[in-house]
Amino acid sequence: MDINTLSGYLKKRFGEKIYKLSLSSGCTCPNRDGSAGYGGCIFCSEGGSGDFAQPFMPVKEQINNAKKLVDDKFHGKTSAKDRKYIAYFQSFTNTYGDPDKLYTIFKEAAMEPEIAAVSIATRPDCIQDDILEMLLKLKQIKPVWIELGLQTVSDDTARLINRCYETSVFEKTYHRLKENGFEVIIHLIFGLPGENEEMMLKSVRYVSDLEPHPDGIKLQLLHILKNTKLAEYFEQNPFHILSLDEYTDLLIKALEIIPKDIVIHRLTGDGPKNLLIEPLWSADKKKVLNHINKAIRDH
Ligand code: SF4
Repeated sequence: MDINTLSGYLKKRFGEKIYKLSLSSGCTCPNRDGSAGYGGCIFCSEGGSGDFAQPFMPVKEQINNAKKLVDDKFHGKTSAKDRKYIAYFQSFTNTYGDPDKLYTIFKEAAMEPEIAAVSIATRPDCIQDDILEMLLKLKQIKPVWIELGLQTVSDDTARLINRCYETSVFEKTYHRLKENGFEVIIHLIFGLPGENEEMMLKSVRYVSDLEPHPDGIKLQLLHILKNTKLAEYFEQNPFHILSLDEYTDLLIKALEIIPKDIVIHRLTGDGPKNLLIEPLWSADKKKVLNHINKAIRDH
């Protein structure tokens, strides 16, 4: 089975291999400070679901630090001056703040010649008019990707995981972003409590049927991490943990549904090993990816 992978897409679009730099905008999250909810989404770790992002410091400094972490991946094939990156503001809700201050931060990244695009992870209830205007200004400098953490289309599951916005809010924001020419990437999580295969694939179908299509989808495996509400919930209400085979099977079914013009940004997630409670098999990232990639190739 052929899939439209992010690395292939980036190569086609920018003519070379491009890596992401995990950066921090210094934002918190409205689902933690009481504006939208308290305690955050139950699976979210202290790092705001961006455990590899850096603490907030000047953007140029963050870029230089992050480059050191990914530059080995170029294997010396691209000279340092020709390397290109995506500035990825990953952790917490990166449009939850003063639009002028955020513009200064994002612009600093966008203006760097080695930055090919700016990717901003956020919540659909945090794209108000002034934020949208700011993002439109930013888009004049470099392409802007907006990553929305939908996780599931089910409002019942959303309540259980304390997502604190309805799917209708996502839908409205999604269309607003697309009407304004943004590239939108949607995150889904497989293995959420109370969700069976039918429900997970319903989310995949929902996202695949959006018109216009989203630009990308990130498929993630639910990680139960220490010191999260989900860890407490799991202890009190143990639920089924997907095995590697079950997860792979689900991925194949999802990939059969997702239209080929949508870029697959991820086939699983990265959780910090030292915090991982379940699924323990996911700690061996290399083995997992080999297993999944083989299954996709053989399908
Ligand atoms: S919206 Fe994002 S940062 Fe906020 S609690 Fe949920 S997963 Fe964490």
